[in-house]
Amino acid sequence: MTDDVLAIDVGGTKLAAALVGPGGEVRRTAMRPTPQGGDADTVWAALTAALTELGATEDVATAGIGSAGPVDAAAGTVSPVNIPAWRDFPIVERLAGRLSGIPVTLCGDAVAVAAGEYLYGAGRGARSLIGMVVSTGVGGGLVLDGRVYAGATGNAGHIGHTVVDLNGEPCRCGSRGCVETIASGTAMVRWALDQGWVCDAPSGAALAADARAGATVAIAAYERAGNALAAGISSAVALCELDRVVIGGGVARSWDLLMPAVAKGLGVYAGLEFVRRAEIVPAALGDSAGLVGTAALARSPELLAGTV
Ligand SMILES: [Zn+2]
Repeated sequence: MTDDVLAIDVGGTKLAAALVGPGGEVRRTAMRPTPQGGDADTVWAALTAALTELGATEDVATAGIGSAGPVDAAAGTVSPVNIPAWRDFPIVERLAGRLSGIPVTLCGDAVAVAAGEYLYGAGRGARSLIGMVVSTGVGGGLVLDGRVYAGATGNAGHIGHTVVDLNGEPCRCGSRGCVETIASGTAMVRWALDQGWVCDAPSGAALAADARAGATVAIAAYERAGNALAAGISSAVALCELDRVVIGGGVARSWDLLMPAVAKGLGVYAGLEFVRRAEIVPAALGDSAGLVGTAALARSPELLAGTV
């Protein structure tokens, strides 16, 4: 047996597996692209190929999965929006079966990121925080009074689907005017193109480059996204008295563009003194946050609110 925990990250673009030590150190990783076609078993085969490459999985005593949502942590199933082949896929049962019945925990990927940043990254020392992932979508996970709050099915903290524009655009979740419809990388690029942004190969990176070069529409896309994030953040802080907000993901890599826009919005929406007091900081762990957070929750389930 080893002290390492097996952590798995299920995402729409990649499937990753890692062995993570007791202090959150990632010892080894293996990765496969997420199959973009095929059935449930095609995706499962890609994940098991990553496990085979990783090796030594027969020696671990505990495993954890952090998955793109929605997840049902109580049922042990996942239905990631970006992996259509998996609907109510019984990933916990399948993984436990492959690993001779060891305990397997499941949480949402943004919950895992929040746990990772809280324990090892930019959230250290906070009492209550939201860890946000702003990339192709907008996700979030909560830590309240030192416990990770995942909710009954593992989906709590989903700030991307809080409403900041009452008459806004329809969202893929079924609502309208969600933070994600304005502030995700995808939404920013789409909005900029609608406003006449001209770009040969439109992408989040191209939009950031053009904003830095002074392109008016690209700058406006960041201001609009920052404003929506600020409204969502102010609401979340007011609701839970968070003392820190950790923002990661592809869009947050352009912190120099995003943060001034968020700060400007907070000037409008963060009214009460306790709301203004929350610190907004960039994530520190990058892509490994989800894996180390997943591993920590698998190793110490008591970190999750509601488990004791
Ligand atoms: Zn939504």
